[in-house]
Amino acid sequence: MKAHFKRPTVVIPAAAPATAKENGNNILSRHNTSSVPKPSFGWTGCDKSITVLASAKHIHLTKEHLEILFGKGFELTPLKALYGLPMELAKGFIFSSTSTLQIIGSKPGRSLKARVLGPCREYSQVELAYTDALTIGVDAPVRLSGNLQNTGSCTLLGPKGKLVLNGNGHGVIRAQRHFHCFDIHCHWLQVKHEDTLCLKVISPHCNVILENLSVKHELVNLSIEDKTTLLKIIQKSKMIQGIECHLDTDEANACMLHEAIGYEILRKESNGSYKVLATQQLK
Ligand SMILES: [Zn+2]
Repeated sequence: MKAHFKRPTVVIPAAAPATAKENGNNILSRHNTSSVPKPSFGWTGCDKSITVLASAKHIHLTKEHLEILFGKGFELTPLKALYGLPMELAKGFIFSSTSTLQIIGSKPGRSLKARVLGPCREYSQVELAYTDALTIGVDAPVRLSGNLQNTGSCTLLGPKGKLVLNGNGHGVIRAQRHFHCFDIHCHWLQVKHEDTLCLKVISPHCNVILENLSVKHELVNLSIEDKTTLLKIIQKSKMIQGIECHLDTDEANACMLHEAIGYEILRKESNGSYKVLATQQLK
């Protein structure tokens, strides 16, 4: 008969932030429910489910960099819509493409192949897990997407050219783990954009609490008109959107995400205890 041991919960603190200023010295005590916005529109397609996904290494490119690497006039071909979005929406928001590039760091003879995500962005950004960064010899500071000053540098090698991302404006990061929340999710959790929460992954013999997950309040900066348009597409697709959490592959492996039987979203209180805000049973 299989023995069942009750193992202690392991707490993995956040990877060292690039600077204290960036993440805030007291970010966990910054929570202030009075400043949490009320939901501004009623999207009936939201529910309280929690999905946790591992985000593998990938690349975002500017239009200019795309053309240097793949040739003039090149356009990305969508391969798969991401985050459960209908393709109609994913095309303008986020999709994995059929294109890949080699990422080269400082270790001679080492490189990694990674997929390019579309559509093009205002910056070129390589997102790696810590193990990936060690493999090819690049720095990958923990950052929110788009915050690319003083990040890692690397060379990208494509079929038609190569390009150096120098770590200033374009560069390599380890993406800060995060929750994607829509209006109503923020209201339920009583959080706002860039607040931090914790995630407990319940796996056989391996319960892990990850701290310092950033809240990404989706669509928060869109105009009412753009939100309305977007909502029409979402409602037409009958998509149900819960709270979605993105970890990198190192984090997902550390908590045996593939065997998880449940999740909890937690808030760390000023006395160090955790308050359960939401739960999800998987099996
Ligand atoms: Zn994400």
